[in-house]
Amino acid sequence: MSYLVDQYGYYGEFGGAYVPEILHKCVEDLQKEYLKVIESEAFQSEYRALLRDYVGRPSPLYYASRLSEKYGAKIYLKREDLNHTGAHKINNTVGQILIARHMGKKRIIAETGAGQHGVATATVCALMNMECVVYMGATDVKRQHINVEKMKMLGATVVPVESGNKTLKDATNEAIRDWCCHPADTFYIIGSTVGPHPYPDMVARLQSVISEEIKWQLQEKIGRDYPDYLMACVGGGSNAGGTIYHYIDDERVKIVLSEAGGLGVETGKTAATIALGKVGILHGAKSYVIQSEDGQIEEPYSISAGLDYPGIGPMHANMAAKARATVLSVNDDEAIAAAYELTRLEGIIPALESAHALGALPKMQFKPEDIVVLTVSGRGDKDIETYLNYYKK
Ligand SMILES: *Cc1c(COP(=O)(O)O)cnc(C)c1O
Repeated sequence: MSYLVDQYGYYGEFGGAYVPEILHKCVEDLQKEYLKVIESEAFQSEYRALLRDYVGRPSPLYYASRLSEKYGAKIYLKREDLNHTGAHKINNTVGQILIARHMGKKRIIAETGAGQHGVATATVCALMNMECVVYMGATDVKRQHINVEKMKMLGATVVPVESGNKTLKDATNEAIRDWCCHPADTFYIIGSTVGPHPYPDMVARLQSVISEEIKWQLQEKIGRDYPDYLMACVGGGSNAGGTIYHYIDDERVKIVLSEAGGLGVETGKTAATIALGKVGILHGAKSYVIQSEDGQIEEPYSISAGLDYPGIGPMHANMAAKARATVLSVNDDEAIAAAYELTRLEGIIPALESAHALGALPKMQFKPEDIVVLTVSGRGDKDIETYLNYYKK
């Protein structure tokens, strides 16, 4: 048994492709093509060259000695914050735009919450000279003004979405609507391990360069190619998916995922999908979804725009259901404290999302010899205002 996707696009009972009739052909074409393209020599040589020379990979695996001392284990940080555009998102968009070009698509659409995926998509569209339209909730357009300006400077059209809570879920609905109107010439670059099959598997594979590097970097540093613990934050699940990909069926490695507790799981102001979600269908896949008794999607809340999503990828839902992963809720205040701690102990200002992974450290019981790899998914530049304002309240 494997925790990776099966031939029908499922992870246990989760996943699949629940899309409107008009998108069947698009999704089926992609299902037929994606593995062939990804495994081709032409794709691999171009993708690898861009990851090296454009994104700046491999990202360092850094032994954080002061953090290690504090938590009584050997903690290594996987530095996705050092990538071009400041997060892991670019690994995926570089890959998907090459797939789009291979399939003869001319127009790119994307959804974005915090704007990191929007910027990463607009970046590769500039690079490949493709038209780019990014859907973004009107609330997020206001909250993430700098990223909106970056996308515009890169040549993208940013469409503010006024429906619902005006955040990521609503932007995704609108992107799917656009895709339905332009199925022939448009490629939808999804930013996480969510959406209909093959997206969760395609995005996980494109992010799996993270665990591929962890393997040889650990071998080089400690003479063993696996850690005792892998830790990452989960919004939709792409940085976590990339971090664990090559270890997912290796039970020597324990997996710890942090989801956004918001103000607290019991307050209702939360984005803790695994803690509270029930099985349902959202954005084309069956997974856990935060919903009311009668199946209405509930509005999530987290201080971190990148984790403010009422769903989670089917890969992670399955790992949680089968207890392959331990999933912890980390609240806003715990994440903020963890961000300040990393900044003062190691001189690294993490993204608010990544701070949720760090916020799980005080909840762990390590042995001194334990090897822990924790992924810092992005840098904190976009979050400085939130960090500074938090303690003023
Ligand atoms: C978007 C984002 C996340 C959340 O998305 P995943 O798909 O769960 O990784 C986490 N960290 C950063 C820095 C992000 O930009």
